[in-house]
Amino acid sequence: MTTALRRIVVVGNGIAGLTACDTLRAEGFDGEITVVGAERHAPYSRPALSKALLKLGDELGAHELPPATHEAMELLGVSATGLDVGARRVTLDSGDELPYDGLVIASGARARRPDVEAPVLTLRELDDAIALRAALSGCPEVVVLGGGVLGMEIASGAVAAGCRVTLVATAAPMSRQLGGFLAGMVERAAIARGLRIVTTPSASIVDRGGRAAVALADGTLVEADVVASATGDHANVEWLSASGVLSDGALVADGRGRVGDGVVAAGDVAHWRGASGVRRIPLWTSAIEQAKTAARALLREDDVPDLDFQSYFWTEQFDLAVKAVGDLPLVGAPEVIEGDPSAESALLRWTHADGSRTAVAANWRIPIPKLRRLTLAA
Ligand SMILES: Cc1cc2nc3c(=O)[nH]c(=O)nc-3n(C[C@H](O)[C@H](O)[C@H](O)COP(=O)(O)OP(=O)(O)OC[C@H]3O[C@@H](n4cnc5c(N)ncnc54)[C@H](O)[C@@H]3O)c2cc1C
Repeated sequence: MTTALRRIVVVGNGIAGLTACDTLRAEGFDGEITVVGAERHAPYSRPALSKALLKLGDELGAHELPPATHEAMELLGVSATGLDVGARRVTLDSGDELPYDGLVIASGARARRPDVEAPVLTLRELDDAIALRAALSGCPEVVVLGGGVLGMEIASGAVAAGCRVTLVATAAPMSRQLGGFLAGMVERAAIARGLRIVTTPSASIVDRGGRAAVALADGTLVEADVVASATGDHANVEWLSASGVLSDGALVADGRGRVGDGVVAAGDVAHWRGASGVRRIPLWTSAIEQAKTAARALLREDDVPDLDFQSYFWTEQFDLAVKAVGDLPLVGAPEVIEGDPSAESALLRWTHADGSRTAVAANWRIPIPKLRRLTLAA
């Protein structure tokens, strides 16, 4: 371990920040850790917000994680506003400065919001989920803009709550993320359960005298009681803008999460350099694995291998649970290992042009390590 490290600051109290703290302790770091978290809540499961938390009959506890054991000083409801890498100091919104020997940047991402005054719901934080849950409770008519995974999960929650729901997308829902075959399977399940899907070359949210509506490319307006927007996210990098650690506005980490001297990054905030290039991988298990590697790299520098992690994706919507190990999207039709995709229950495998594989379980009970083994070469 680098003996000079006595004070480590972690900016971001999401799963990447939490995992970094836990890993530092597991690796034997017994110095001071300070976590700065803009949200007032303890870390929670963000994926639960668009799944279990939208089930109106259920208790509001599905997102909770076990209490932290890392014994860091937690500054909650506090934001980092600046970074001086030369002086090794983080500035807070209170004006206070936190000196550090090592810094973990784990400030995640936030929902992209339309530029209108009228009320539009987005879903990124626990408070957003509570607001959305409350809005759905009266069975309003809902329109969701955005055909990605999050838009479809919101639509699924709204349909399950008994709402009439229209989803507006600029391509077949989730086809860009999952590929046509898998996206088609979910789309059929969604339509069978009552979702109305409108595809249009472009769409935006407009303000109609204080009420939001979705405007389609041909000028048609889709109006509803509740308008939700799920059109992507922005990495939370603004507080780093004067620090010199950004490249073209992006926080780029190497294969161990290092972005500079004594500074590492992990999770949704960071672009990582990996076998498939430099990219952001905004997935829960990727944030965990990146945070473990980055925390170790902060303590042990070169004595840590590059992260070698096959990404794991899952979604739950319209009574379908889909798990995928390996790269997405998936081109063409799969090999059916077991089951029947047309019956919404199958174990599937795709082999990519480079020989790598992605294994998918759709409504199929299989432990993740076993699903992972299906991606290994025969
Ligand atoms: C509704 C929803 C459902 C999802 N479902 C899935 C899923 O099914 N499967 C999957 O793999 N992934 C899913 N994801 C993605 C997954 O949740 C993220 O990849 C993961 O949470 C990223 O963790 P993170 O710690 O990097 O960032 P975040 O979870 O964004 O946490 C970062 C924290 O840092 C705080 N912060 C930001 N700026 C500052 C600052 N300047 N100072 C201090 N604190 C700051 C933020 O408030 C936030 O609390 C979902 C995401 C959402 C929003």
